[in-house]
Formats: sequence, structure tokens, C-alpha cells
Amino acid sequence: MTLFAVEPLQSTLEYAALPPEELRERILLRKEALNAVILGHNYQRIEIQDVSDYLGDSLGLSQEAAGTSADVIVFCGVHFMAETAKVLSPNKTILMPDLKAGCPMADFVTGDALRRLKSVHPDAAVVTYVNSTAEVKAESDICCTSSNAVRVVESIPANQPIIFVPDRNLARYVEEKTGRDNIIAWDGYCYVHDDMVLEELDRARAENPGAKFVVHPEARKDLLDQADFVTSTSGMVDLAEEHDALIIGTERGLVDRLKQRYPLKTLIPLSGAAICGNMKMNTLAKLAWSLDHGQHEIMLDEEIRLGAERALLRMLELSDGWRGPTEEEAELELAGLRPTGCGCS
Ligand code: SF4
Repeated sequence: MTLFAVEPLQSTLEYAALPPEELRERILLRKEALNAVILGHNYQRIEIQDVSDYLGDSLGLSQEAAGTSADVIVFCGVHFMAETAKVLSPNKTILMPDLKAGCPMADFVTGDALRRLKSVHPDAAVVTYVNSTAEVKAESDICCTSSNAVRVVESIPANQPIIFVPDRNLARYVEEKTGRDNIIAWDGYCYVHDDMVLEELDRARAENPGAKFVVHPEARKDLLDQADFVTSTSGMVDLAEEHDALIIGTERGLVDRLKQRYPLKTLIPLSGAAICGNMKMNTLAKLAWSLDHGQHEIMLDEEIRLGAERALLRMLELSDGWRGPTEEEAELELAGLRPTGCGCS
């Protein structure tokens, strides 16, 4: 098959009727013709990961893509991630295979709603988790990830109130770690982590006595209180290397990958139902359609883009900026386990 013999089809349904090998071939040919790179979030379907040039979490992927010479970036993740790629690569074309792949946690807060809360607390600093829209980031003083949220909050004067959006569970965790009593938490959450419950932990512990329990700070406090470790996914990857038996409280895609990497270890997902359906909306057929039709392109108002970039850069400055992967991280990246630590990762 040559590129010019591959005529675009009309609908994603027509693409879905093609065999996977033909879809893969179309994707690779069109990608080359467009000088495109495909970014695959860690929680994408395996077939998407297989054709991705980079695997990782949202911020790491966007930073990686910004450093490439590609003209087009196809982001297989959720909407706020593609926006972040546009924020960091304003001169590249950013595509998403399915515009409906949104993040319910990011959608908890809009720019308007945040502006209203800011007007009630004019002295407050706004700290925004990277799992948020570009408009909300632009309304913020600084962004944070689950890895650096405590450090970011500690960088703000102790007597200054903080509006923390959108994750109430991460806000509560940061409050406890910093001892602050002036954090105004938005009432948002990630349904994948918030739905994990204590009963599941009791069952997993009964079935796996001796296993340590690690949980993501997006989970509820009663689970965090029972945990041996509370950490981002980067921390979980490290712990899986160190321990032979772990109960892991995060999206099960990561747990399944860790099990592939360490087949002799006992690595148990806290909840078999912890699956982000939004992440799984992207399919090989939609990706092929996206490349053939140059859609769906992500556009941002320049004022919003600049505002979001400022909040992201402030965070990166505090975290010693962006750096490329170490040798070990590069190896983990090849295995789809890049140890970076921002949200839903
Ligand atoms: S895992 Fe949670 S935070 Fe990540 S995209 Fe899904 S809903 Fe959003």
C-alpha cells in the first residue's frame, strides 16, 4: 500500500470496519506524510499504545512533544491533555481522535465559576491541579501535579488563603501534609479514584496478608488513612520495584502494566472497576480518521493560552523546570511506565 493509494474514508464507522493491520498501516503512512507524532497516555487501549511514538502522563507527553520537530501532534488522551499540548506547542497542529473524550474531574470547574469564587476571596492564591481546562489554568496563579502539590502549596505564604481546584481529595491531602487551615477546596473529584472504597481494601488485605497498600492522593481520606504509602503513579512504579506484594489504589491500567513488568510479584488492583472510560474512548479507527481528516483540531484563545502557560511555567520553575528522562526513565518509558507523576497517571 502506498500513501497516495490510501483514500480517506468518510466516517469513523467505515474505518472501524477495516482490519486492525490496515488501520495501523494507514496511521503510520499518514503520520509520516504529515510529520506527525502520536502521544499515548498510559491509560490508552493497548492497540493505541502500540502505534504511539511517546507514552506517559499528560504533562510529560506535552513537554516531550514540544521538544520535537513534528508539525502535528495527535493526543490520545482526554481533552485537557490536548489543550496542554497546545499551550506548550502553539505553533503545532494539535489533534484529538475523539472530542468527547473529556475528563469529568476537569469539568467540575469552569472559568466563570472560578472567577466567581476568586471575587469572594480576592486575597487568595489559586493553585490548580493540571487535570483542568486551559481556561481554568489561565485563571490560576500556579499549577501543580499530585507529585509536587505539597511543595507548590508550601511555596505560598502561610497566611495567604488558597483556592485549590478541582480535586477536593488532593486538596485535603495537601492540607493535612502542610498543616494549613486556609485551603478553600473545590468540590470536584476523579470518579475512578473517589469510587474506591474501604471494603475493597479489607477484602484485598484478607486475601493478600502481608501485602503493602499504596494509594493515589486522588482517593478518599479513609483509604489514605489506611495506606502504607500515599503517592503519585511515579511513586507507585518505584514501590513496585522495591516490594514483592502490593495492593495498588489507582486506575487499573497502570496495575496491569506493572504486572506485565513484574510477573512474579503480587501486584493487586485495589478495585477491578477502577477504569477510566473517558480515556478508553479513543480507538484505532478514530485515530486513523483523525489523521486522514486533520481533525479534531484543538484551538485556544491566545490570551487563555498565555495565561495557562504562565501558571504551568511557574510550577515548572518551582520543580526545577522540565528535564529529559534519565536512562532508567527512558527504559520505563519503553515499557509504557514513564515515572512522571501528574494526575490521572
Ligand atoms: S482517570 Fe480521573 S482524572 Fe484521569 S481522565 Fe479519567 S476521570 Fe479524569
